[in-house]
Amino acid sequence: MRWGLRPRGPEAAALATARSLWGTPRLPCSPGWQGATKRLLVRSVSGASNHQPNSNTGRYRDTVLLPRTSFPMKLLGRQQPDKELEIQQKCGFSELYSWQRERKVKTEFCLHDGPPYANGDPHVGHALNKILKDIANRFHMMSGSKVHFVPGWDCHGLPIEIKVLSELGREAQNLSAMEIREKARSFAKAAIEKQKSAFIRWGIMADWNNCYYTFDGKYEAKQLRTFYQMYDKGLVYRSYKPVFWSPSSRTALAEAELEYNPEHVSRSIYVKFPLLKPSPKLASLIDGSSPVSFLVWTTQPWTIPANEAVCYMPESKYAVVKCSKSGDLYILAADKVETVASTLETAFETISTFSGVDLENGTCSHPLIPDKASPLLPANHVTMAKGTGLVHTAPAHGMEDYGVASQHNLPMDCLVDEDGVFTDVAGPELQNKAVLEEGTDVVIKMLQTAKNLLKEEKLVHSYPYDWRTKKPVVIRASKQWFINIADIKIAAKELLKKVKFIPGSALNGMVEMMDRRPYWCISRQRVWGVPIPVFHHKTKDEYLINSQTIEHIVKLVEQHGSDVWWTLPPEQLLPKEVLSEVGGPDALEYVPGQDILDIWFDSGTSWSHVLPGPDQRADLYLEGKDQLGGWFQSSLLTSVATRKKAPYKTVIVHGFTLGEKGEKMSKSLGNVIHPDVVVNGGQDQSKEPPYGADVLRWWVADSNVFTEVAIGPSVLNAARDDISKLRNTLRFLLGNVADFNPETDSIPVNDMYVIDQYMLHLLQDLANKITELYKQYDFGKVVRLLRTFYTRELSHFYFSIIKDRLYCEKENDPRRRSCQTALVEILDVIVRSFAPILPHLAEEVFQHIPYIKEPKSVFRTGWISTSSIWKKPGLEEAVESACAMRDSFLGSIPGKNAAEYKVIIVIEPGLLFEIIEMLQSEETSSTSQLNELMMASESTLLAQEPREMTADVIELKGKFLINLEGGDIREESSYKVIVMPTTKEKCPRCWKYTAESSDTLCPRCAEVVSGK
Ligand SMILES: [Zn+2]
Repeated sequence: MRWGLRPRGPEAAALATARSLWGTPRLPCSPGWQGATKRLLVRSVSGASNHQPNSNTGRYRDTVLLPRTSFPMKLLGRQQPDKELEIQQKCGFSELYSWQRERKVKTEFCLHDGPPYANGDPHVGHALNKILKDIANRFHMMSGSKVHFVPGWDCHGLPIEIKVLSELGREAQNLSAMEIREKARSFAKAAIEKQKSAFIRWGIMADWNNCYYTFDGKYEAKQLRTFYQMYDKGLVYRSYKPVFWSPSSRTALAEAELEYNPEHVSRSIYVKFPLLKPSPKLASLIDGSSPVSFLVWTTQPWTIPANEAVCYMPESKYAVVKCSKSGDLYILAADKVETVASTLETAFETISTFSGVDLENGTCSHPLIPDKASPLLPANHVTMAKGTGLVHTAPAHGMEDYGVASQHNLPMDCLVDEDGVFTDVAGPELQNKAVLEEGTDVVIKMLQTAKNLLKEEKLVHSYPYDWRTKKPVVIRASKQWFINIADIKIAAKELLKKVKFIPGSALNGMVEMMDRRPYWCISRQRVWGVPIPVFHHKTKDEYLINSQTIEHIVKLVEQHGSDVWWTLPPEQLLPKEVLSEVGGPDALEYVPGQDILDIWFDSGTSWSHVLPGPDQRADLYLEGKDQLGGWFQSSLLTSVATRKKAPYKTVIVHGFTLGEKGEKMSKSLGNVIHPDVVVNGGQDQSKEPPYGADVLRWWVADSNVFTEVAIGPSVLNAARDDISKLRNTLRFLLGNVADFNPETDSIPVNDMYVIDQYMLHLLQDLANKITELYKQYDFGKVVRLLRTFYTRELSHFYFSIIKDRLYCEKENDPRRRSCQTALVEILDVIVRSFAPILPHLAEEVFQHIPYIKEPKSVFRTGWISTSSIWKKPGLEEAVESACAMRDSFLGSIPGKNAAEYKVIIVIEPGLLFEIIEMLQSEETSSTSQLNELMMASESTLLAQEPREMTADVIELKGKFLINLEGGDIREESSYKVIVMPTTKEKCPRCWKYTAESSDTLCPRCAEVVSGK
């Protein structure tokens, strides 16, 4: 050593400790050592040409230790999907779930699968959802938890029923309820099988032999119990609600059962609603000299008799106008004055304008019943697009009207029966008249008689028709079953405070959706579903349900499925005790109800059937954002209603899949990406190559799943390229540990090369971060961190400098073993880091690890384990400062081979010098750790500039700030890197410019070769 350590306070101590970490003499690691906190950015610099021993090195070829592995660099064409299938078989993908369930471990991780709908083929939305779940599950399983993941399907409901019926065409009209149910069941089963095999193909680990199905008798029985629990608590009631009603088929219809006829002709009318009681503001604007009316426009005159209110938009401007024809005063939206006047073929003179809110507390008269007051009410659904800005409100005949009526406690009487005919309540003039035909006619005539009709005209617009009868439908309040969710919502919102939402903003979304739902209508007038288990009296408006009836039915359903509701005679559905109470079998006056439960109630009770343990609470629900108003909510509401707790601890909400440019995927646009085509390739494999499931999985992990997730050829190709680079990294790692046995050949960490120790230091940092990111379900960051590590830190940096040591040193040289010790750890950490995302690749690598003699599944060997002794923050100063010099050197010779140059590093005496000296104790060396990092022919380390210098040198200057002991030690030092062409010749064995002549070996190689 040319300069002894200068006796300096803390710096000397720090240096001594640092020395213990990376240099000789090797002392035990000091636990008090706190090094620099800034992270080193190792980067590749252009000009850092790879010095790669050439396989044509002729006679020395056999003395060079080139990588050896059968792990292929690339899998071409069908090889990728075929290899995955082989791996699934060989590594026991199908047995993994039961294996991990049987382990004796303390913690359990329960992810409750939201059931996809059992119709249609598997799509990329399924892939996004199931793969995210699988990544979470595989991580928790590897980290030592017993994973509970029972996949399920939502099997009932209108979409399936309609699909089945439409496929049958005319034949469908003659089918019995049971025939429809049987056909719907087999349709759902076929869809489930298709989806299930796709999910398994994607590598999803689950309890595939014990899935749950909402059409399963046991599931239905649990659901009926939940229904009764809620009924028993007084939360279930029967009430009116406006629904689409088809008079031609005498049934309520769901939106999916409608067809819109764009050519429908309605008779639209402008009607006067005479002012009855003005609001205070309005009173100040009119003098009482002329009659005042509110102008209303409607396309459904037959609903006027059921009017209960007139709605306005509180934020809009309204006007009092004088009609030039009649001299009457009218009130309408200020924006509509011109258009309405022209439609009515008159002129309006605006007397005054005022804000909508000033209408509050006013009333007008019903245009057909002068004594009846219709209040003026504010409402959000009023728009200025059509009409007068004042909306006629008939609560029994409009969904929004109904909303206003519930808010203001208005009557909701329906004047129309199931045939679409006015009832007697509508009055003698209207009774028995079909609302869409003669009834409309009569209403218009009555308005004329009352002098409240201003205009009638034909309007061609899109109008809902019954898809089966092709006849127009009406909106009509009918008796339905509801859940009163007002109180449940309050409790639910409170409980949601303890639920973790990812992203956090999803919680607000969920609360908003819940607020928008005034009630929950759970009855449907269809047959493919779980019956609402009530009996209706044949003549009276009464129904029967109690604990005895429900117990009896639950048992029947549990054993035989809900088909019994349609197959068994009523006397077998009603238990004897109940029958005797209502008068015995002879006097049976009750019939089973015809309504079935909403499918959201079906799936919303899945927690009660699927979740394990007494707590029945999942660690995680993970679904698309549409479930904020769907399954997340129906699950919460049923769980809170029956047991006052949320069914989940964490909720993850992901976005939808979109085309590559952010457009919706649709058949008509031709941009639908089928997951099966992604995995197995399309018809033209030059355009749609077989990517395999791992590419699909990497795409999922790499996407920002909390927004919309784009998929298309370019993102899939990018995913494939990422994996291909990862493959190359893995191949390098596998190939260079071929002759290494970690048990016997490993070098103790403190004896390793500085750069190797440094890589372990980076590795433990990476492992900690990745573990934390998996815990937070931030798989996108896992991918980004990993990608940076294997491309930048490994491929571009570390691998490029260690090749000489690996290939050209003696097989057993501790310097080579040091490097291999690091490679083994790197390989282990990297494989485990990506295993949850790319299980097929992880298993494939595991099969090729040379020192694992009987490889089992990587998933059966636990999560990453790193050693705390790898953590050596002090090393960062050494490597970072040397890298700063390396970067300036390599940057000064762009495109050139660094090995053709020698460098002189001049550092003024001080801390930086001492640090760099640890990497090279001799003044000049071609084999030091410093020279390895510089990748030069030789490096010289000096404390002052050499006296004589040739002219053709490049001089580079730099400064480096040393920051040790968490900032306690800071010292800025200047350095100079002098670059000049080497005078040495290229060694024929190692290709480094370290030989005296081109036909002699360099001293290192000479020693290695002679030792063989
Ligand atoms: Zn050599």
